Amino acid sequence: RVLDPVKVAQVWTVRKAGLNILMSRRGDHKPITGIEDVSVPQEQLADYLQRMLDFCQKENQIGEVAVYAHASAGCLHVRPLLNMKDGADIAKLRAVGEYAADLAVQYSGVMSGEHGDGFARSAYNPKLFGETLYNALRETKAIFDPHNLMNPGKIVDAPLPTENLRMGPTYQTIKLQTVFDWGADGGYAPAIEMCNGAGVCRKLGAGTMCPSYMATRDEHDTTRARANALRNAMAGRISPNELFSTEMYGVMDLCLGCKACKSECPSAVDMAKIKAEYLVHYYQHNGLPLFNRLMGWLPTLNALLYRLPEPVSAPLVSLINWGMKQDSTKGLLEKIGIHPERTLPAYAPQTFARWFYTQQATEGTAQRTSQPATEKSTEKSTEKSVILFHDTWTNYNETHLGEAAVRLLSAAGYHVQLAAGRQCCGRPLITGGQADKAKPW
Ligand code: SF4
Repeated sequence: RVLDPVKVAQVWTVRKAGLNILMSRRGDHKPITGIEDVSVPQEQLADYLQRMLDFCQKENQIGEVAVYAHASAGCLHVRPLLNMKDGADIAKLRAVGEYAADLAVQYSGVMSGEHGDGFARSAYNPKLFGETLYNALRETKAIFDPHNLMNPGKIVDAPLPTENLRMGPTYQTIKLQTVFDWGADGGYAPAIEMCNGAGVCRKLGAGTMCPSYMATRDEHDTTRARANALRNAMAGRISPNELFSTEMYGVMDLCLGCKACKSECPSAVDMAKIKAEYLVHYYQHNGLPLFNRLMGWLPTLNALLYRLPEPVSAPLVSLINWGMKQDSTKGLLEKIGIHPERTLPAYAPQTFARWFYTQQATEGTAQRTSQPATEKSTEKSTEKSVILFHDTWTNYNETHLGEAAVRLLSAAGYHVQLAAGRQCCGRPLITGGQADKAKPW
């Protein structure tokens, strides 16, 4: 029994995070829906659960079964982990569904205690309602919807839950020679398959995912649409030629690479990384535009600019900043794809890294003169350390962001360091479809 308020809060945190942890499991075995909404009278719940687990694990050799949710309402969500690319597991899904429906009837329960029937459960309705009631439902549906236009196949006359599967035993995907390491996901295609279509990326007014959908309100611009389009092309459901078509690029284009889906999507779909990989292959097929090439060179050019002696670099920086505001420059930039109304980030008088090391040197000198050596070493050992990974834009343009981060972290008691020996974040290359060239950075 947990009574300590801190531990109570931790239990609730686990409860809230549980579904996300479950859904974000990598690999082909997924926690499948179908029997997870069976609800029985609370006093029968323990019996129901034990029989269901025995049927899954002992009679069907299902390795793992997830159980969570509303014990107090008699509705524990039971999800066997099955591989929907494997015919044997698909047969198990069918057997488990039939068994759960039998138990629901036996315990005077229902198949859909919290959610709807949908394609996952409607096929069990004849068993659940009995012949008389089920036929009455069919007749009612026929009176109000004689042409079966409204939600066909739901509640009555439903296909089996093992029909119309997204994958199935013949499912295969084309293999790409990938740039990123997709080992933790089991490959590039499995990373895309993590999207289960729940559509949480269509939420509005809460969180960040997905900013492109929030702006356009068009399914085309959701994380789900990107995963669906890529998966169908990679699996040959639409022509594989579509994979690198203009239309497919259009589906990916508005993804900002913000990574909100990685943390907010229940399945932790990392569309920013998926897009970065996709762009490498897209441009290998279609050629790299000049704009992307220029953006890829930017970190090198920036580094060269600030490596010049200060009497040269300082006026040069001012000149570039002035030049970027001129109409003639904007006209030139428009030709490579930068909108004339776009304000480009100005170059800072000094790089963030230089500011940081100057600060450190100043603070080090001040500490050495004000503290005895023994005191200093004790203080350092108790400090929390953090490495700040500053990107190209923070280093050369928006240096105030890096400076603010350092001040904030220092005020919070952290000893801030910059990653030693690193040159560039590689970000302009990664977002511009040149992730393959970002590795040496
Ligand atoms: S990374 Fe792309 S798909 Fe994911 S939330 Fe951001 S914009 Fe949407």
